[in-house]
Amino acid sequence: MGKTIIISNRLPVKILKSAKGELVYKPSEGGLATGLGSIYRKGNNVWLGWPGLSFKKDSDKTEVTQKLKSENMFPVFLTAEEIKLYYEGFSNETLWPTFHYFNQYAIYKKSLWEAYEKVNKKFCEALMEIAEPEDTIWVHDYQLLLLPGLIRQQMPNVSVGFFLHIPFPSYEVFRLLPWRKELIDGMLGADLVGFHTYDDMRHFLSAVSRISYLSNKRGQLTKGNRVIQVDSFPMGIDYDKYANSAASPETIKREVRFRASLGDQKLILSIDRLDYSKGIPARLGIFDIFLQNFPKYQKRVSLILIVVPSRDKVEKYKELKREVDLLVGRINGRYGTMNWTPIHYFYRSFPLEDLSAFYRMADVAMVTPMRDGMNLVCKEFVASKLDKKGVLVLSEMAGSSKELSDAIIINPNDKTQVVDALHQALTMPEEEQSLHMDTMQATLKRYNIHHWVKMFLDRLEDIKERQQSLATKRIDEETVQIIMDKYTKSKKRLFFLDYDGTLVPFYSRPEQASPGKELLEILTSLTENPNNHVVIISGRDRKTLGSWLGHLKMDMICEHGVWLRAHGEEWETIDSLSNEWKSDIKPILEMYVNKTPGSLVEEKDYSLAWHYRKVDPGFGDLRAREIVSHLKYLSANMNLQVLEGDMVVEIKNIEVNKGKAACKWMERYPSDFIMALGDDWTDEDTFKAIPKDGVTIKVGSANSEAKYSIENHTGVRDLLGLIAKNK
Ligand code: UDP
Repeated sequence: MGKTIIISNRLPVKILKSAKGELVYKPSEGGLATGLGSIYRKGNNVWLGWPGLSFKKDSDKTEVTQKLKSENMFPVFLTAEEIKLYYEGFSNETLWPTFHYFNQYAIYKKSLWEAYEKVNKKFCEALMEIAEPEDTIWVHDYQLLLLPGLIRQQMPNVSVGFFLHIPFPSYEVFRLLPWRKELIDGMLGADLVGFHTYDDMRHFLSAVSRISYLSNKRGQLTKGNRVIQVDSFPMGIDYDKYANSAASPETIKREVRFRASLGDQKLILSIDRLDYSKGIPARLGIFDIFLQNFPKYQKRVSLILIVVPSRDKVEKYKELKREVDLLVGRINGRYGTMNWTPIHYFYRSFPLEDLSAFYRMADVAMVTPMRDGMNLVCKEFVASKLDKKGVLVLSEMAGSSKELSDAIIINPNDKTQVVDALHQALTMPEEEQSLHMDTMQATLKRYNIHHWVKMFLDRLEDIKERQQSLATKRIDEETVQIIMDKYTKSKKRLFFLDYDGTLVPFYSRPEQASPGKELLEILTSLTENPNNHVVIISGRDRKTLGSWLGHLKMDMICEHGVWLRAHGEEWETIDSLSNEWKSDIKPILEMYVNKTPGSLVEEKDYSLAWHYRKVDPGFGDLRAREIVSHLKYLSANMNLQVLEGDMVVEIKNIEVNKGKAACKWMERYPSDFIMALGDDWTDEDTFKAIPKDGVTIKVGSANSEAKYSIENHTGVRDLLGLIAKNK
């Protein structure tokens, strides 16, 4: 077992310089640091990242490295210039706004991108000093999107997970980034890519499909020979920490003190970092309308507005700060009285005991970001409500809204709705409050930060195992011998042979792929052996295959199992198969043919295929992605499936697949030697259907349900030729 290496931009430590010039180390209390604490502090495990200060002196660097080493941390030292361009620049002024749908704030500057690339490389170099092939590496967040790809180049087989803590935007927004391809490829260096929500995952998969032309099956992608899993893992909080802190005598003492100065009015709580994604000005506007529309709440309710300073060197944040100051001043000036302040505004951060006291006191938490990857404040509020009294008003744009459906969920742009939600929250009967709080607390208790860490790391282990199970053994002399032994010892043999890509190469027009003399000879000698039962199992139509191979003593399964014929018998088909849908779908495929020179539609009895082998490579892939998503959308309720073969997109009835047809044949012809060969993923169904002791061979790339792989159709012919020579 190797060690686990956590990598994030910042290490979970704050290093300060005291007045005397000594370095002071303070552990970070963030949720991630707590959750991963149980991991990186164990054994040889380590957390790699920037220690948070730029050190010029080598002696300082040595001291920091030594000290951090004793705490299982490994520093990546960054210069002030690197921090400015990579962190404040590209990460926070290019990626952050784009990923939060504030693309109008994004700046696209080559110099920032170059710094981002350089620092990602620097992280990779630092990692290479400590990483070993057996290790598990977990990379975090948007500052290090390129890192998984860089690691993969250096260590092709190491296990890498990546988690994005902010939203992943829709493709239409993501595509605006000039470096979108590099960023996606970087992320795809990981074996497991995790997001907070299903929507983020969906957006990522759509970007991968359009930018890197890779399709997915239930979140699983194949890039070259590697399977990559994409999934959502909503991050939780350290529930007990917040529940315990809310119960602590120190918190209760502070609550009593705060309450004494505030009086007995109702409290609405708002806590965020200063950020445009949090929607603070809009929230203030809503509070203003609320006081106007419900004047009886004037003097009876106050807003506690905590804004934690953040990124205050960036112009957009400075502007936001001025706006918030102005709005607070305006509302307090307009409604305030000698003994009532509508908004208690704090521009600073508070220690945990103060936050816990605020969480305990608040009647309503107003968490209304315009966009938020997860949002932890709302979870902490719920965990702190020991008496289960209090209401959460939560934006549907926060990742946490997917889990906390017992909150009052609002769209932060719908002012009327949020004003009404505030009123509803302030008037909600206590029994109803506890009912909702109870449900939310149960969810958060269960899906806490420790659960999140475990889920992610377990899944990463699963995907590594899956990769190993899909790794096939390239056929070599030794495996040929094993196959021959099995073959010669057996009495009844069944062969399933795919046609295109397996027995013959691909041609630009499907009708050019007729079998030549060599193939016919091999098949003839294979089929003439009375112990061999040979079945062609193909996506092709029965007419073509019948005319090419019908004279041989072999069975045929055509159109992936729609048409079946045992040698010497009539064609049969699956009962009750409908093909009425073809008249709806065909015009759509024709439309794509008109838009895509070189493509063509092939019509079969129970399926339609759009071929794009002759289309310009990138363009054909792009169109194929469009067609697949168009067809999947259209066929959702039509009992149809969309299959992607080699340069072909095929749509057909869901009841049909090669695996089912192969099972039928295996029942009909019990055998003691079963062999299947195929090249694309429609053949994976056949491989899955073959019993474990069968011989399954994937033609081409090595990733498959098959046991073995072979390079190409020439290798297949050699192998079959060799087999045919034996009795
Ligand atoms: N927080 C804090 N001190 C404060 C106010 C907030 O430590 O004075 C913490 C809060 O408890 C929460 C985090 O800051 O854990 C904010 O996380 P969230 O996911 O809500 O927003 P982010 O800042 O990550 O976008």
